[in-house]
Amino acid sequence: MQSLAADLELAAVTKAYGDTTAVDRVSLKIPAGTYCCLLGPSGCGKSSTLRMIAGHEFISDGDVMIGNTIVNDLPPAKRGTAMMFQNYALFPHLSVRENVAFSLKMAGTPKAERLSRAEEMLSLVDMGRYGDRLPAQLSGGQQQRVALARALVTNPTVLLLDEPLSALDPFLRIRMRAELKRYQRDFGISFIHVTHSQEEAMALADMVVVMNDGRIEQVGSPREIFNQPKTRFVAQFMGGHNVVSDAGRAYAVRADKVRLLGTVSSDETSSQRATVTDVEYQGMTVHVAMRRSDGTDLLATLAEHEFDRAPVSVGDEVQVGWHASDRHELAA
Ligand code: ADP
Repeated sequence: MQSLAADLELAAVTKAYGDTTAVDRVSLKIPAGTYCCLLGPSGCGKSSTLRMIAGHEFISDGDVMIGNTIVNDLPPAKRGTAMMFQNYALFPHLSVRENVAFSLKMAGTPKAERLSRAEEMLSLVDMGRYGDRLPAQLSGGQQQRVALARALVTNPTVLLLDEPLSALDPFLRIRMRAELKRYQRDFGISFIHVTHSQEEAMALADMVVVMNDGRIEQVGSPREIFNQPKTRFVAQFMGGHNVVSDAGRAYAVRADKVRLLGTVSSDETSSQRATVTDVEYQGMTVHVAMRRSDGTDLLATLAEHEFDRAPVSVGDEVQVGWHASDRHELAA
């Protein structure tokens, strides 16, 4: 399988819809062969960014570069990108094989060649036996593989995926997410995957791009984003963090670093009183929600055995703290 990996670069890319600036001077370099997730809440500009890369949306300002080419004015089929949609957009009246061969047909590839390439691509996604079926005769996961084969048959340099897992049930979603990662590695090209799920981005991405309100908040590996959130927004959106204020500064403290007093030495902690507002048993961990007298909510995630050593209940007054080194300053 030949594949031509290429770097992708956005330079101050902007999208305005009338008065709405959906994407605001986004600059980003995605090296060839990267699994990149565009992550953020609904309406933050992820899909608009993806559609501008694909050529399905005009770029209001800035440049999109693939390899050494500025592709702003190229039609989608000439950019070397392929897109996989949320609902897979398979043609219901065409067989699986014809669905996969469709874009080759549009490109004028002779029939025998396009059908054999479709067949080859179907076997690469373990769907070799299903070429004659109609999409309605497949499960959700199988439809997704067909959609993937259809996108990859054109030998794209970059595959664009818009919420590709959201139509699947939670069990299948986790299985298909592992498959996506495997195909990205096998093909060696970049996948750019739009999602609002931090869990999905953490599981898949080499590079997470956290977006908020049309702008990039932070770019990094999942570990960097989770362990060193730069802003309050990133800390809160990624979850699992407390954002606390101290002397006019904002800090993030991971919930699994928060201790109920007695479990850390007092010289290393900043400790404070709080009232337990909720206790949730989660299996391997116990989540203890608390409120300080100034109204700030705190969350501690304790290992089950740790909780069992000194169990607390709703309404208890507790002393909470964390090591100073687990407190991470956020940008103002
Ligand atoms: P996301 O993918 O993160 O949910 P979108 O890129 O779809 O975000 O949308 C970003 C913003 O642009 C939103 O405020 C949305 O309402 C607006 N928007 C998206 N598409 C259009 C459109 N075709 N016309 C007008 N506004 C749009």
